[in-house]
Amino acid sequence: MISRLRNNFHLAIITLLGSVTALVLGSFMVWRLARGDWGVAALDAAVLVTMLAIVRLAWREGRTECAGAWMVVFNAGFAILACLTLGSAASGWVYVALMTSFYLAPLRVATWSGAVLLLAASATLLWRAVGPYHNISTLVTWSLVYGFSLVFARRLRMHSDSLELMASVDPLTRIPNRGVLEADLRHTIATGHSGRAGLLVLDIDRFKAVNDTFGHAAGDTVLVDLAALLREELRQGDSVYRFGGEEFVMLLPVSSEQALARAAERVRDAVASRLVGPGGGITVAVGGAMLSAERDWQDWFARADASLYQAKRAGGNTSHIAESF
Ligand code: GH3
Ligand code: MG
Ligand code: MG
Repeated sequence: MISRLRNNFHLAIITLLGSVTALVLGSFMVWRLARGDWGVAALDAAVLVTMLAIVRLAWREGRTECAGAWMVVFNAGFAILACLTLGSAASGWVYVALMTSFYLAPLRVATWSGAVLLLAASATLLWRAVGPYHNISTLVTWSLVYGFSLVFARRLRMHSDSLELMASVDPLTRIPNRGVLEADLRHTIATGHSGRAGLLVLDIDRFKAVNDTFGHAAGDTVLVDLAALLREELRQGDSVYRFGGEEFVMLLPVSSEQALARAAERVRDAVASRLVGPGGGITVAVGGAMLSAERDWQDWFARADASLYQAKRAGGNTSHIAESF
């Protein structure tokens, strides 16, 4: 249980907020009931039951994003109701609802529900007319909490987007890197694509000579041009990755060894006829393998790599596809 909380930020926030709210409102409810304050006790009970139901949804079904979004919507609704029934005594819950929504729900849901809450809660201030000084300072502090939370959440989102991009895109060729390839291969295997997915491994022929003769920068340009060409050669559902060094990989939704062999030849030919390096034409050797009964991506990759070795032994600028078993 502790490890689930530690590994899932959404679940931890939902559990913390849900249980604290339920505990506090549960105590209030008992007190209100003892005083015969039935209306507010009913509101407390409604919040308590809803919070516990949302926490249960997150724990039992693991749908933390959905549970978080529901919690945000209900928090906003209950905070408005609390403002209507309790007046300024409820203003603290508006701060909590405004701020936590950005931790619980996707940015768009949090932004809109926060805006609705801010407007509706402000309207209740006018309605209750406590006094201009109190109203203005409450309104300003609510707006500041909402504004700062929104700006902070957007910055965080920008940073995490750029981190994700840095972690998944090869900085030189701007195509997905080996990490993304491994994840996609695992996913292809896990979703039962045996006999319906093919892997091509491409390796530039005598690339070291390009670097040695024309310099590393010229070698880099060849890699960038090859990546662009491979991207142009992609068809519906195909993907291309830089595996490392001068090796590239393509993952294709093909359903036969023959179709994979045709794709390998098409790509090899496109490179041989269109890619020009500093010392003339560039060629690649291509090895391929259909997904068979492999359970690990490494086994599938190893069969394509063995085919690449065959293609290299044949002198490069050629393709070879492993026989399926
Ligand atoms: P083969 O025909 O057998 O494939 O020979 P090769 O020269 O292509 O293969 P080898 O493995 O001997 O050399 C690969 C070279 O790729 C060596 C390395 O300097 C170069 N390389 C790897 N990554 C980069 C890179 O990011 N930029 C540049 N410019 N060169 C790279
Ligand atoms: Mg190589
Ligand atoms: Mg090479």
